Parts: sequence; structure tokens; C-alpha cells
Amino acid sequence: MNVNYDKQFQEIKAQAAGKNPKLLLHVCCAPCATACLLRLADAFDVTLYYSNDNITDPAEWTKRLGEVQKLVDIVNGGTYEVTPVAPLKLVVKQQDVSRFFDAAKGLEQEKEGGARCAQCFRLRLADAKTYAEMHGFQLFGTTLTISPYKNSALLNEIGLSLQTDDLKWLPSDFKKHNGYNESIRLCEKYGIYRQHYCGCTYSQK
Ligand code: SF4
Repeated sequence: MNVNYDKQFQEIKAQAAGKNPKLLLHVCCAPCATACLLRLADAFDVTLYYSNDNITDPAEWTKRLGEVQKLVDIVNGGTYEVTPVAPLKLVVKQQDVSRFFDAAKGLEQEKEGGARCAQCFRLRLADAKTYAEMHGFQLFGTTLTISPYKNSALLNEIGLSLQTDDLKWLPSDFKKHNGYNESIRLCEKYGIYRQHYCGCTYSQK
């Protein structure tokens, strides 16, 4: 059955208006965050959570983190296309690539979009869920659904499997409504680096 996660998102956002619930948003990279924030920052108190053990090159991990920090500074500096209901925050989970390689064991030869990516999604979303639970967030979600290369249904199924009574998954399909092209436009406008591969050494090859 096809689930319309974008419609679910719109409904939750409508309920959030004026209440500004605390959202922990797993952020894979600044480009994906750009357009997601246009839809989120005006209704949710957003904290970005950079948890990406899948970016196996430490220099690339650091470079992408720097771009996320740059985006946070732009948004909080008041020159972005949306005014956030609360200052945008950033939390960083320190890199531990061994956790990714453990999760990907036996799946190294999988094509992008296959079983290795499902494990990779689960690893990162589970990290976000754990942090959100420990710090009193009401919702957790991810920027990953904006990418045309990522299976939004799978991401939402994983997120929903992790939610609890007190911490709800924020369903999304940010690639809808031209989301990906919007992210390209915003990166050009604000001078944000867009990487050319997903993150792990297998995708780099
Ligand atoms: S291709 Fe991307 S999503 Fe898939 S395992 Fe590698 S880093 Fe994770």
C-alpha cells in the first residue's frame, strides 16, 4: 500500500503551528537540510543532529559538518528564506566509522539503494532516536527523504519502527514539491558545497 508521507507531514505541521514542538532532525548534509528547513523552521523548534558514521572519509565528514555549521549560522543570522520560530541548534555525534562497517558487513557489494543502505539508515536514525529520547524531544525525523536516490518509504518505515509513545517519528517525503531542485537552488544562492557521492567508501567507488 502506498502511504502518502508528505500528506502526513502536512497534517502534523498544521497541528504544530503555534506550539513549536521540539524536533530533532537528523541531518545527512547541508544541501539536503537547506530545503527541509524551509518547511520546518517556521513551525518546529529544530535541532540538527549530525550523526553520520557512514561518511567513511574523515576529511569529508569534517567538510560536510563545516557546511552544516555554515547553514546554521546563515539561518540564525537572519538572512535565510525562512525565519525560524527558535534559534536553529546543532548537535554533533562524533564519528565512529567502525559502527558503519559493522552494520555494512556482508553487504559491501550491494548496489546503492539496496540492503546496505537500509542498515545505514537504521544506524543513523536509531542514533537520532536515542539522543532525542535522552533530551526530551517530542519528534525526530531526517533530511534524507529529500534525495531522489533515497527510498522515502523505507526511511519512514524505519523511523516509525523506532518511535515510542513519548517520541514520535516525523513522517516526510521532502523530495515532493520540487524539494531536491529547491536544495540545488539554495546551495547556489548561499554558496554551500554539494558533494558528489553519498558517503561511504562503496558509494565513492
Ligand atoms: S550508499 Fe549512502 S546510504 Fe548507502 S550505505 Fe553508503 S553511505 Fe549509506
